Amino acid sequence: MELRLYDTLTREKRTFVPLDSDNVRMYVCGPTVYDFAHIGNARPVIVFDVLFRLLRHRYGENHVTYVRNITDVDDKINDRAVRDFPGLPLNEAIRKVTEVTANQFHADAKALGCLPPTFEPRATDFVLPRSDGKADMVTMIKQLIAGGHAYEAGGEVLFDVQSMPDYGKLSGRKLEEQLAGARVAVDAHKKNPADFVLWKQSSGDEPGWESPWGRGRPGWHIECSAMSAAYLGDVFDIHGGGLDLIFPHHENEIAQSRCAHGTATMANCWMHNGFVNVEDEKMSKSLGNFVTIRELLADWPGEVLRLNMLKTHYRSPIDWTLKGVEESAKTLDDWYWVAADTKGGAPSEAVIEALSDDLNTSQMIASLHGLRKSAASGNKRDRGAFAASLRLLGFLSESAAQWKSRKEQASGVDAKHVDSLISDRTAARARKDFRESDRIRDQLAAMGVVIKDSKDGTTWEIAR
Ligand SMILES: [Zn+2]
Repeated sequence: MELRLYDTLTREKRTFVPLDSDNVRMYVCGPTVYDFAHIGNARPVIVFDVLFRLLRHRYGENHVTYVRNITDVDDKINDRAVRDFPGLPLNEAIRKVTEVTANQFHADAKALGCLPPTFEPRATDFVLPRSDGKADMVTMIKQLIAGGHAYEAGGEVLFDVQSMPDYGKLSGRKLEEQLAGARVAVDAHKKNPADFVLWKQSSGDEPGWESPWGRGRPGWHIECSAMSAAYLGDVFDIHGGGLDLIFPHHENEIAQSRCAHGTATMANCWMHNGFVNVEDEKMSKSLGNFVTIRELLADWPGEVLRLNMLKTHYRSPIDWTLKGVEESAKTLDDWYWVAADTKGGAPSEAVIEALSDDLNTSQMIASLHGLRKSAASGNKRDRGAFAASLRLLGFLSESAAQWKSRKEQASGVDAKHVDSLISDRTAARARKDFRESDRIRDQLAAMGVVIKDSKDGTTWEIAR
């Protein structure tokens, strides 16, 4: 069964053939660490984790290299450092902001069931030439200048877009159209308004590094060109990120990497996940519907958020709703009940097949529902396949008992108290005191406990 992935650059779904099946290489743009990650940031983290898991399944756990960077130099970080730690020297304040935020991001990603990437380089470690000889930003900028692709002007080093005949191919923007449509005032020092910054000067109180162009700091795009080359080489298999990164970020990464390395491509497949809306509206700070992962994790287990994210195909926009999350929680409660205590088994072919079709996660979830049905009706092989598939996808990290007790704790319901109320109710029913048994049922309902009577007795669960 082949793996087919949609490539934004060629605008088609193509069979994926790795450059080296012993080392399949993927780069995904990581967070700029100045604030808590929101639900929109969670999407690429989850989507590319699923792809990482699928690649590991197909090529072997030790044959996939996944790099996701941390952007720890950015003007937004500087602003935050000044605001939050006014008493500290700027460099120390910046370190605090980036450390705290990166730790929080790691905790969020882990709670969402994501594996750590193979490498997670920080931009500030790749600005200057390194003792280990890995690619760095300053050397790359020098190469671009030497090759006639970049120039110094107005205290900056700029990439010369006209030096690259097919600049704009990823986003489909033509240089002439960009020129005609340019409404912003053209910076006088630029040869072309689309030229972008590789290096800019830092004032005394801004973070900076000594370079051939004075003390300064890198532009954002050059970071990813350097760090991907450092770990994955000049050309690699998959480059991913959110749709919003296609232009200018990925367009400019391609320009820098291809021109510095003299290659025809940077990555063989460019993958982009769609936007996240909240309750049918675009998420934005001004609308007040900006939801952080941390806030959601206070109310829901990370696996519920993960499942909810995967219900929509990664390239489509997702509408994040409370109703959707509630449904995902119910589904996962049921899956835990059926499969969490089943060990062994091999992931289902149907699940792998759905994922191998450009990560068709909605088809994958339909397959899981089918497996769940036959697993619950006693088919042992399907129960094993169901459990193994869920684990492959990053679910069932807890036992059924842990899952249930966590939910009880979160709801503040005391299980022993519920059990004793239920036995009181059973006794009342036995003596045909239905007024009392109804009263107890209502009392439980008020506590958020739903009871279910069957010929085997009474079971209960927490209503959400
Ligand atoms: Zn990037």
